[in-house]
Amino acid sequence: MDTPTRECCALTDCPWCGRTDLVCHYCDGRGRWSPERPVTDGNGMITWARAEEQCRMCAGTGKEHRHLPLD
Ligand SMILES: [Zn+2]
Ligand SMILES: [Zn+2]
Repeated sequence: MDTPTRECCALTDCPWCGRTDLVCHYCDGRGRWSPERPVTDGNGMITWARAEEQCRMCAGTGKEHRHLPLD
């Protein structure tokens, strides 16, 4: 069973997880992102590879989590 997004992040009573009108702009609400990361090929050459992982900005919830407090 593949769960696309988690319901909440690690915070209890997270004000961001309680909102459904804001999607994470890093992963567009998918809860997954594919950042490019540098990989060395053994000869000192750096190439870029895509790796899909859980979005770190929203902890996989797909909901916007900014560092600014809500007002
Ligand atoms: Zn949250
Ligand atoms: Zn995200």
